[in-house]
Amino acid sequence: MTRRAMDPERLERELYVARRTIVEISPEPVRDLFRSAILCGSIREATDWERRAIDAVLVMAEPVDNGLADHAYCPLCGRGSSAPYSGGFVYPEGLTRHLEGRSARRCPVMEQVWGLCIDAVWASGNDPRSGTPL
Ligand SMILES: [Zn+2]
Repeated sequence: MTRRAMDPERLERELYVARRTIVEISPEPVRDLFRSAILCGSIREATDWERRAIDAVLVMAEPVDNGLADHAYCPLCGRGSSAPYSGGFVYPEGLTRHLEGRSARRCPVMEQVWGLCIDAVWASGNDPRSGTPL
């Protein structure tokens, strides 16, 4: 790999652009909320944002039409439970765990948008705990 390819600033910039692209191609009902991830200035704001984002995604989920009314696939990444014949995640508990990352594999879309949120907290120059300027 070339030195240019390994340049940390370049990689950081490219990650940011890739994450912003994910936001721009996310479903319309959550796009503006995802765009606001970059406005988080404290851990509290970030966790509040995450709660609102998860709630908005849960609203978008549609029941799986296979007799399993309490199951749904992730509206962001299309994944479902890895359990055989599950027909999606148990709704809402399993889908919530997928979005929060409390399951084996966090939603890859949420993970990247959450990364924007956390990076914004650190870039804000605020104390991450209180949200007040350092
Ligand atoms: Zn997902």
